Amino acid sequence: MISFPIYLDNHSTTKVDPIVLEAMLPYFTEHYGNASSKSHELGWKAEAAVTYARKLAARLVNCEPRDIIFTSGATESVNLAIKGTAEANFSKGSHIITTKIEHEAVLDSCRNLEKRGFTVTYLDVEENGIVSVEKIAKAISPQTILVSVMWVNNEIGTIQPINEISKLCRQKKVLFHTDATQAAGKLKIDLSKLNVDLLSFSSHKMYGPKGVGALYKSGRIPRVRIVPQTDGGAQEKGLRAGTLNVPGIVGFGKACEIADTVLVNESARVKLLRDKLYSGLSSALDGIKINGDMKNRIPGNLNVSIEGIDADSLMVSMKEIAVSTGSACSSEDVKPSHVLSAIGLNKELMRSVIRFGIGRFNTEEEIDYVISKLPEKVKKLRQISPLNKQGSNGNSQFKKGDYAEI
Ligand SMILES: *Cc1c(COP(=O)(O)O)cnc(C)c1O
Repeated sequence: MISFPIYLDNHSTTKVDPIVLEAMLPYFTEHYGNASSKSHELGWKAEAAVTYARKLAARLVNCEPRDIIFTSGATESVNLAIKGTAEANFSKGSHIITTKIEHEAVLDSCRNLEKRGFTVTYLDVEENGIVSVEKIAKAISPQTILVSVMWVNNEIGTIQPINEISKLCRQKKVLFHTDATQAAGKLKIDLSKLNVDLLSFSSHKMYGPKGVGALYKSGRIPRVRIVPQTDGGAQEKGLRAGTLNVPGIVGFGKACEIADTVLVNESARVKLLRDKLYSGLSSALDGIKINGDMKNRIPGNLNVSIEGIDADSLMVSMKEIAVSTGSACSSEDVKPSHVLSAIGLNKELMRSVIRFGIGRFNTEEEIDYVISKLPEKVKKLRQISPLNKQGSNGNSQFKKGDYAEI
């Protein structure tokens, strides 16, 4: 039995794993102490729970627990990493390198720094969505203090060559931050073997609660210095002031523990579902094209253009499926995706993009449902859609009035 809607938007957020929720619940009403309260049992209990969660988060990425800073999510972690590094290293230089396909958390932090006198290079990626290590090497100057490249892209699922980039940065004595929000819990991350200085990840992208995440800051040599971005307390070694979200952190820790345990099997299962979805759709339909490299891609991601359709119209006709489309739509304001334009899609093709994000709770039955229903909806839309009659240059070969009545 399928329960609708079928949730295939696991890059936006994920359902809290019931085991995670169960672990969190006592920390709302029973063990509700402040982890900074040193004078009573409730405080100690909360502190112990945070310490344990820190161990679990560290184990997932194979680092020292003391190198984990708990935050309110990846957006905050990224802000702390990028602005914190910039402020701490201003005397050494004012140049930062990143890519055009980063999450807004990275791009907006960089734009903020540009207003404050920093220079930022936004590197192009190749057509397959992967950044060339050579281009990064060429962009590094004596002024460069930080390189920030995401581990996995949230739209097209492509995996960046983090090992090579981190080696390059170490060699050039430049700090390296990676936004690993879409990688954590999906790919094996071993920080003990990498030259990564800072790494951001988030609980709600890996079946934990929303509003909690972490920044890994290497405690190894060379020393990594960052300036805190919040004032008001000595929590997290003075790097992130504010009362700790104990239930959230407990849930995040549990989510890390589960991910670490199931990662290999879950990746294989999710990849089978993803591949089945792609082969099912592409054998039923012409004009389906994958966006981004298919080999260097996380198992749960399928991002496709479906020629001749408007993805938003398609999803309106299929409300029982929850996916994302190429244009992040906020009220009347339709913004084309900066990621899709960076890999060379034109506006018309961008409008036809659907991102499927398959995750832990999806079943084969759900994938079969999508394969059995979506192609016929596409065919219907293509019959009535003006987009269908457009040339590959995006210019309609038809005049108004030539379009079929909708
Ligand atoms: C979701 C996401 C973020 C933001 O994470 P929050 O915890 O929601 O703040 C940052 N980067 C990437 C790649 C993401 O997918």
